[in-house]
Amino acid sequence: MGEEKGVRRVPYLLDFYPLQGEEHTRIHPFFTHLTEGRLTTTRCKACGEVLWQPRVVCPHCNGEEMDWIDLPQEGELHAFTSVTVGAPMGMEDDLPFVVGIVKLRGTGLKVLARIDGASYEDLSIGQAVRLKVQPLEDGRVWFRFQV
Ligand SMILES: [Zn+2]
Repeated sequence: MGEEKGVRRVPYLLDFYPLQGEEHTRIHPFFTHLTEGRLTTTRCKACGEVLWQPRVVCPHCNGEEMDWIDLPQEGELHAFTSVTVGAPMGMEDDLPFVVGIVKLRGTGLKVLARIDGASYEDLSIGQAVRLKVQPLEDGRVWFRFQV
């Protein structure tokens, strides 16, 4: 296989982000909602459990019927750390960056994501953050939180 000059190909197995189309994943609505600026997940129709991450089978009752629900876009930092080495492929130029666990407002849900808008030294536990939709260069989308 030839190499094009100036184009860095990321091997599929090292690609940090999931394939997001309907042909690739049954949670494709999650990514469609993200492009609309919405953070969503699944709620089991049988037992009512709100699941994070979105799932197609309920781990509590094995139900397979799900509703999509919107989650709060605001939360607070439950924990965080700074990544200074060993970034996933494609994020090397971002070092150092912050990853954190965000407790979504009004829920018990904790979401792991990158935290933008402040350095590690400027952050504190309990700090308010809000959803940031992150478009990727190839048309996919992901989410972060920002101060
Ligand atoms: Zn269930």
